[in-house]
Amino acid sequence: MDAALEAEGLVKRYGARTAVRDVSFSVPKGSIYGVLGPNGAGKSTTLRMIVGVLKPSAGRISLLGGPISRETLRRVGYLPEERGLYRSMSARGAIAYLARLKGTPARTAFRRADQLLADHGLEKIRNKRIKTLSKGMAQKVQVLAAIAHEPEFIIFDEPFSGLDPVNQRALEATIRAQAQAGRTVLFSTHVMEHAERLCERILLIAQGARAFEGTVSEALALAPSVAVLETDGAFDLAGALVPKGFAVTLEGEEHGNKRWRARLENGRGSRQLLQACVEAGAPLSLFEPARASLHEAFVALVGDKIKPSTVAE
Ligand code: ADP
Repeated sequence: MDAALEAEGLVKRYGARTAVRDVSFSVPKGSIYGVLGPNGAGKSTTLRMIVGVLKPSAGRISLLGGPISRETLRRVGYLPEERGLYRSMSARGAIAYLARLKGTPARTAFRRADQLLADHGLEKIRNKRIKTLSKGMAQKVQVLAAIAHEPEFIIFDEPFSGLDPVNQRALEATIRAQAQAGRTVLFSTHVMEHAERLCERILLIAQGARAFEGTVSEALALAPSVAVLETDGAFDLAGALVPKGFAVTLEGEEHGNKRWRARLENGRGSRQLLQACVEAGAPLSLFEPARASLHEAFVALVGDKIKPSTVAE
C-alpha cells in the first residue's frame, strides 16, 4: 500500500494524563480517511501530532514518505480545530495569505483565492473581513485557505462542526472533489454519518486508544443486526421489551404511530424479538431487518466500558 501517512505506536501524555495511547494507523494515498470518536477521545491530539504542532511522547510518524519537516508540511493542508484566525483580513486576503505561507507565489495565491471563492459561491464575501462573517461562513473560508496551496494531503480537524446541514453537504462535496483530483483527505469527526458517507477507511478512538482500524464495511460487519418496527397507537414497545433484555429505542412518531429500532444482540435474533412482541401484545404494523449504522458499530465495539480491541489487525 502506498501510504500518505503511517503512524506507529503514537502516545501523547499531558503531564500525568495520557490523551493518546499506542495508536497506529496508515492512510492510503488518494483515499478519504476518517478519525472518529466521541469528544475528548484524542482526535485533535492525534491530528496535531501528524502535522507537527505537537511532539509525540512516543511513536513514529511517516508523512508523505518521510519524517515531518518543513518541506513535507508544505505539501500538507491543515484546518485546525481552533477557528477564527486572521480575523481582520478579508476572506480573499486570508486565503491568499495561507497559500503564500506554504510557498505559493503571491499572484497565484490571489488568483486561486478568487477562483475558490467563486467555485464555492462566495464571491459576495470576497472583500469582507473574516470577523464580520457568520461563524459558518468564516469556517468555509478557513477550509478554502487550508487547500489553496493545492496540497497533496489535506487534514481537517472537525470540519463539519459549526456548519448547518446544507453547508455540511457542500463540504462533503468539496472533500469528494479533492479526492477525485488525486489528493488524500483525512478528517476527524464525532458524527459518524459523515464518515459513513465519505470514507474508505476509518480509525475509531475511544479514551485515547484505538478501538478499530479498517474499512467502513469491515466496521459495519461488526455491528449487530438491526430491526425496524412500527406499532399503532400509544403502545410503549421499549417499556415492554427493554426489561426483557432487548435493546429497543424509539426512533420517531408519525400520525400517532411509533417507529422503533432494535439491536439484535446477545443471541436475541429476529425470531426471539418477534415472539417477545407477540407475547407483549404489541400492535405491530411493521417488522423488518435494517442496515446497521456506523454509530451502532461503534457502540458495539466500544460499549459503555471502553475496551480497546485488536479487531481487523
Ligand atoms: P478530541 O479531539 O477527540 O475531542 P482531544 O485530543 O482534544 O480530543 O483531547 C483528548 C484528551 O486530552 C482530553 O481528555 C483533553 O481534555 C486532553 N487534552 C487535550 N489537550 C490538552 C492539553 N493541552 N493539556 C492537557 N490535557 C489536554
